Amino acid sequence: MALIVQKYGGTSVGSPERIKNVARRVARWRADGHQVVVVVSAMSGETNRLIALAKEIQAQPDPRELDVMVSTGEQVTIALLSMALLDSGLKARSYTGGQVRILTDSAFTKARILSIDEQRMRADLDAGYVVVVAGFQGVDEAGNITTLGRGGSDTTGVALAAALKADECQIYTDVDGVYTTDPRIVPEARRLKTVTFEEMLEMASLGSKVLQIRSVEFAGKYRVKLRVLSSFEDHGDGTLITFEEDEKMEQAIISGIAFSRDEAKITVLGVPDRPGIAYQILGPVGDANVDVDMIVQNVGHDGSTDFSFTVHRNDYVKTLDVLKNVATHIKAREVQGGDKIAKVSIVGVGMRSHAGIASTAFRTLAEEGINIQMISTSEIKISVVIDEKYMELAVRVLHKAFGLDQPA
Ligand code: ASP
Ligand code: MG
Repeated sequence: MALIVQKYGGTSVGSPERIKNVARRVARWRADGHQVVVVVSAMSGETNRLIALAKEIQAQPDPRELDVMVSTGEQVTIALLSMALLDSGLKARSYTGGQVRILTDSAFTKARILSIDEQRMRADLDAGYVVVVAGFQGVDEAGNITTLGRGGSDTTGVALAAALKADECQIYTDVDGVYTTDPRIVPEARRLKTVTFEEMLEMASLGSKVLQIRSVEFAGKYRVKLRVLSSFEDHGDGTLITFEEDEKMEQAIISGIAFSRDEAKITVLGVPDRPGIAYQILGPVGDANVDVDMIVQNVGHDGSTDFSFTVHRNDYVKTLDVLKNVATHIKAREVQGGDKIAKVSIVGVGMRSHAGIASTAFRTLAEEGINIQMISTSEIKISVVIDEKYMELAVRVLHKAFGLDQPA
């Protein structure tokens, strides 16, 4: 007998029929003798609908009231799923985040979980109940309803699994696992049987939106066994997210090619090459709440240098604005920028022990005539910034070059 936490996303509970389908799946796990805690999202589209409704009343909805409102989406699904479970002859009980007592801080719309009281769930499980918990929500010390940020039900699932020391946390979604890259761009993309937490974090932060990134961090920290599976298929092992030390010897060197179109690049030309300049440029950018990603500073000549960095495309105009003043102040020659760029990244823990990955990547791009504008690397990732119009081509050729294409 195992204790399993299952989380079902919005599309998996998007209609009464699909909710009944979830109940059937849960019933099978119960029939096999397992204890099951189910975390559900709001029905697909519901959270967006509620946010839009709030904005019709208040352009910038009050965060506390917004949380009171959007948390109702999940409250509807827990009741519906419990009814479906009861109808199929199982004992089931639903709880909101506050009823469990998922205690969070008071940062409305982006709260963090502080602690979880698992007593009540444990007693129900021992009495043979399926416990159904609303994802995405909690309660602060003062009893206010809070929510955990978009996609937060993943984090609820992982956090409950950690609190209950569950044997596995299963995230059921509309894809059947984590892929080597987006199959819409590379039809030969393969599902990964396993991927490490670190790789998953890199891929999630690079735009592979299978899991809320915070849930992956949480699972890594509390060593929760995490699996991504399809809720529309009855067979299949999905993708297991592992710890590197558990990995087998013949791990692929590269696990995936991630990409993101949400980038913009800014270059400050003719900057005086002296101590403090990076701070003078990036300090005000940070003060404007803009996250900087890649940074490149060229070797100086004639006492001056060029300084380039990337930001999220949404922050592009704002950053240019900030830099106008800065440039005059530090006597830079010119500020240039462009938002028609994309970032493509090769991710794999195998890079740690294999040389030549970067040169293979650069040669592959060169053979296609793709110009690399910026490069950055970490221990397990090589990222390049290229012209947006070559992004799909770059992903395809790299996917092939690193042997990730499905055997024909
Ligand atoms: N319903 C919330 C959202 O749409 C939380 C979730 O689905 O994970 O963001
Ligand atoms: Mg989601």
